[in-house]
Amino acid sequence: MDFTLNDEQRQIYEYGGQLAQSYGNDYWRDHARRHAFPKEMFAKIAEDGFLGLMVPEKFGGAGLGMTEMALFMEGTANYGIPLLSIVIGPCMSLSHLAKHGTEFQQKELLPAACRGDIKFCFAITEPGAGSNSMKMTTIAKQKGNRFSMSGEKTFITSADVSDYCLVVARTTPHDQVAKKTDGFTLFAVDLKKKGVDMQRVRIAIPLPEEQWTLFFDDVDLGPEDVVGEIDNGFSILFDTLNPERIVVAAICCGVGRFALNKAVEYASERNVFGQPIGAHQGVQHPLAKAYTNIETASLMARRAAWEFDNGMPAGGSSNMAKYAAAEAGVEAVDAALQAHGGSGFTEDTGIYEMYPMMRLLRTAPVNRELCLSFIGEKIMGLPRSY
Ligand SMILES: Cc1cc2nc3c(=O)[nH]c(=O)nc-3n(C[C@H](O)[C@H](O)[C@H](O)COP(=O)(O)OP(=O)(O)OC[C@H]3O[C@@H](n4cnc5c(N)ncnc54)[C@H](O)[C@@H]3O)c2cc1C
Repeated sequence: MDFTLNDEQRQIYEYGGQLAQSYGNDYWRDHARRHAFPKEMFAKIAEDGFLGLMVPEKFGGAGLGMTEMALFMEGTANYGIPLLSIVIGPCMSLSHLAKHGTEFQQKELLPAACRGDIKFCFAITEPGAGSNSMKMTTIAKQKGNRFSMSGEKTFITSADVSDYCLVVARTTPHDQVAKKTDGFTLFAVDLKKKGVDMQRVRIAIPLPEEQWTLFFDDVDLGPEDVVGEIDNGFSILFDTLNPERIVVAAICCGVGRFALNKAVEYASERNVFGQPIGAHQGVQHPLAKAYTNIETASLMARRAAWEFDNGMPAGGSSNMAKYAAAEAGVEAVDAALQAHGGSGFTEDTGIYEMYPMMRLLRTAPVNRELCLSFIGEKIMGLPRSY
């Protein structure tokens, strides 16, 4: 078994770190406080060819895989820059279009998205259905070879700065399908189309990316907008959801390391009872425990990425990685805050603002309970619990 990265992977990991250091965690926090999209950094990532990491070269990308995308994102998060906009666009949506898109999507939209000229967001969540996507009611009714989409999606990250949204909708109502996973179709919806509207969801935590409720009112779509097979969208949905879980796990590990590195530095210097506070086991052990859990989760995320890249079922590892990394990330930031005492809560230290973000990732994009249910049922063989 070989755990070393190849030269290209190491360079990508280091590039993520260098890029994040060149902007600095202050840049992220400043944008997070103002809910301002980090457009300069996004443009730089596009210019350096990293938006299309997972897109084949023939469609304008770098032709690499999930492993490289996760390394890049972990690299930026290691230095305090977690980028949700890269999760929902380049990671979830572009690689999906590369695999399942129409000729128009692959030859026109993908190269433009890799250059950063257009952006994608991703929409599955509905107010009435929540985690139970089977209950979604957004429907694209077929009329000849065209569709009319109506419904509502909520919490859609960066919809305001996106040009297209990869939308999961019903094409057959749930009471007319043989299997509950039948009847779903993915569409790449141009957000400028007539009938599309959006309203901001006011998120209470510091986050550069804003969330939106999208409204679809008789939006006209054609076969060129369909991604994959009509009515069979669920069979390919995990090509977006597993990458999302893997890359979110990578982000959690990176932010956890960022906080722990700051804590080690502080605890090695801060002296209140005649020795550095890091010499007390009460300070040292929570940091060491969090570090162990971060590195364990990171290994699981890399295994999940490797399985995904090798065409293996990656659901088990992706859910374990996402669950373990989100828990470890929350633990790491909390331990780092405790080690900093009162100064952890100052704006200058730059740790406290990472806490709400980590806490968010325990609940979204998939909550820890659904990860555990997947592991319990699909991996361990326990009876379905919900
Ligand atoms: C900042 C942010 C960004 C987001 N971005 C996007 C996006 O870009 N696109 C998108 O489509 N969605 C997005 N979401 C939505 C996100 O994926 C959902 O919020 C998440 O999946 C949970 O769904 P819900 O909020 O409806 O919670 P619910 O489904 O109502 O669940 C509420 C809570 O109940 C518990 N629970 C639910 N079901 C079970 C069960 N079966 N067993 C045990 N416990 C259970 C969980 O603890 C869960 O947290 C985002 C959300 C946030 C907050």
